[in-house]
Amino acid sequence: MSTDYTTGTPWLDCDLDGTVTEATPTSLKDHFALAINKEKILKIRIPEGVPAGGTMTDLQLQNVEDTKKMFLGSRPKTHDARLAYDLFHLMMDWESRNARGAAPLKAATDAIEAVDSIEALNRYFLETPPEEQLAGLWDASAAPDFMDSSRCVLGFASGNLLLEDSAEYRDLTEYGKIKKDAVTVLLKKVLVRLGYSEKEAAQKLENCFAFETLIAPVILTKEEMSSPDFLTKVYNPVSYDEAVKLQGKLPILEELEKEGFPKAEKYLNILPGFLPKLNELYTEENLPLIRDYLIAHSVMNAVGDLDRQCFDWRIEYRNAITGATGSLPDEARFSLAVADKLPWPVGRLYAETYLRKEDKDRILKLMDRLIEAYHGIIGEADFLSDTTKARAIEKLESISREVLYPDDWSKYECSELNYAPREEGGRLWEALAAIRAYKTAENLKEYLKPVDKSKWITPPSEVNCQYFPTNNSVYIMGAFAQGAIYRSEMSDEEVLGKLGWVIGHEISHAFDSSGAQFDKDGNMLSWWTEEDYAAFLKRNEKMAAYYNAMHPWAGQDFRGGIMTGEGCADMGGMKAVLRIAKQMEGFDYDRLFRSLGEVWLEKGSLQQAYNQINDPHPMGYLRVNGTLQQFDEFLNFYGITEGDGMYLAPEDRVAIW
Ligand SMILES: [Zn+2]
Repeated sequence: MSTDYTTGTPWLDCDLDGTVTEATPTSLKDHFALAINKEKILKIRIPEGVPAGGTMTDLQLQNVEDTKKMFLGSRPKTHDARLAYDLFHLMMDWESRNARGAAPLKAATDAIEAVDSIEALNRYFLETPPEEQLAGLWDASAAPDFMDSSRCVLGFASGNLLLEDSAEYRDLTEYGKIKKDAVTVLLKKVLVRLGYSEKEAAQKLENCFAFETLIAPVILTKEEMSSPDFLTKVYNPVSYDEAVKLQGKLPILEELEKEGFPKAEKYLNILPGFLPKLNELYTEENLPLIRDYLIAHSVMNAVGDLDRQCFDWRIEYRNAITGATGSLPDEARFSLAVADKLPWPVGRLYAETYLRKEDKDRILKLMDRLIEAYHGIIGEADFLSDTTKARAIEKLESISREVLYPDDWSKYECSELNYAPREEGGRLWEALAAIRAYKTAENLKEYLKPVDKSKWITPPSEVNCQYFPTNNSVYIMGAFAQGAIYRSEMSDEEVLGKLGWVIGHEISHAFDSSGAQFDKDGNMLSWWTEEDYAAFLKRNEKMAAYYNAMHPWAGQDFRGGIMTGEGCADMGGMKAVLRIAKQMEGFDYDRLFRSLGEVWLEKGSLQQAYNQINDPHPMGYLRVNGTLQQFDEFLNFYGITEGDGMYLAPEDRVAIW
């Protein structure tokens, strides 16, 4: 039975490659996103090496080009810029990588293979330096404590799963099958490369999946991780004595002590069922499963850092799960990889090369206007009492505005990280191990001191914008404010319709279903009256039901429950922009509404669509149509009335703010 992808409700998923043809009828009143973008959708050719084409892809590819240029000139003079430059050239050193083949990975997997008892496994965890352990059975790392966000706390969580989502081990979806096939093909090839027979490789995979199937029921699903009650679900503080009991036979606390973490009063037991289950499985009888789990995940984590053959196999695997074809050129791929491994050195170099103070000032002013607009929105929210409104305003005024790049770079220096460059005989594998060791040491340092809330969490070179509830900050990364989203020569109106809407979106996250649980200081403490919070949750439920009633294609549901935060932000952002537009004389509304359509113009693979269904962000076409149909300004401007596909009756509207 084949699926008909052209029967979405209430709108056709025009982001999915192949659903739009010359013959597809369009009407602005029925499907706005499709009508304004049809010609462009037909013209988009998905570039090699990526799963989609469109505005965000263009932005990403421009970012890759900009980053690449920083590594192609002569070697920079400053320490951190050199780290990035040298890593790029170590990645490009195929001669050395090919000469070594898969040997560095084999040394790591042989060490796991040699483990012949639980006692030996404990020794392996305690005696192998963390940077040489390519995979783990659990994760213990430091992050800000949500209840007291000025301090860090150590949280215990699970290791990774090959199928990424624990729900796949209960009911394998169509997308799960694609992932399982792809990972099986990759692992078999690499395991044979490491010297195992075909039969042994197949057995190892079976063992790894068997172990994952046993542990998956106590790991949150992707849907649970994206749901608004996630934070309360994972906030399970335990004392040191309780942590000792929970770890049972596992050497977690001993390993932390070896890394230098002192005994603490509080830990977070992120997944309550996980440590008891892992203890139950941590037996001599299960040792083959545990060993093969560690070997399979070591391969997954390191296969891209080996020779050309392994690297190409990894690209084939990525393509199978993303639906991309071909590959970005090496220089582009490694630019992305360096930015991933060394976010701050790359971020600083990027900011110093491409970002300008005058743009920062202009965008800060725009953010001020949006915050001002939000004052009005909160003031007029008829479901809130004055008490809650006053606290919401207090939170709004405390939002820290972080635009383009951080001002003080001294906090992000990596002066203690060192590895040899290619000219001095340096090799990629050792450089990556040095970076892992450095990050482990940094995690400890961060843990030991109060949280510096003014420190950026994502580098300015990442194509992204964010709101972080634990420091109540909005971040507009420099690499996002580029290309079709922002250029210094754009009119104020165009800036408002594109970047302005995005900033409004981020501000709204402070008041969405998860952000609303945090107070102005970034602590997860309720500032709502009970009645107001109940009314707020009711509005969220209505929004979840709105998305649940939609389908990208027949038979495929959306997960409305995880989309309320992003839906709230999309609609709140548009509401803030419309308030500002109202104050501007002769405002071009057509331009504004089309701008939103341009921001989310996309054409992608089926895998990309599956991914999006698991993502809290609505698909591009839905972000456009779903947001705009909430507003009279939009409906009236185009004369949309009952019976039109874009019409939504006032009582059915779901904007939370
Ligand atoms: Zn968002």
